[in-house]
Amino acid sequence: MYCKSCGLEIDNNSRYCIFCGHNIYEEKIKQQKVLAEERTYLTSSEPMNQQDKRRIAVFIAFIIFFVIAVCSVAYISSVDQKPQEMEKPIWSTDRYEKVYIGMSYKEVCDVLQGDGNLIVVGENDLSVKIYHWNDYKLNRIIEITFQFDKVMSKRIISFHQNKPF
Ligand SMILES: [Zn+2]
Repeated sequence: MYCKSCGLEIDNNSRYCIFCGHNIYEEKIKQQKVLAEERTYLTSSEPMNQQDKRRIAVFIAFIIFFVIAVCSVAYISSVDQKPQEMEKPIWSTDRYEKVYIGMSYKEVCDVLQGDGNLIVVGENDLSVKIYHWNDYKLNRIIEITFQFDKVMSKRIISFHQNKPF
């Protein structure tokens, strides 16, 4: 090798330059330190990876939050889409049992705690009227037929299929 100080060729293993006395050993130690520092600099690029991991975690958290937000909005809108009539009172079986033949429409309204919906006025016999009380919770209808404003018959029919129970 060559001495860095005077440029003359010297033995590879020598600690000092035999020509100028330059400390070769110290030079080598310095070089090793620089190499070691470079190595730690390279390995210190790991915090970048951790930053990437953090970014991925934040991204996943955002995705999860987004999915939850979409689901809750979908749920809330599905609740909103339910008919407002759902808020109407429920015609319980107890109340239905208290409707008797011969009661007037007004008496039936008191028993069922609400007005009925007029469904049919008899085409030939105008004295016949059929009223429905919708029970949205039990998906059924209380159908009461009146003649001359007196209960003639009553029945419960299913809300959707319109089939007798
Ligand atoms: Zn030298």
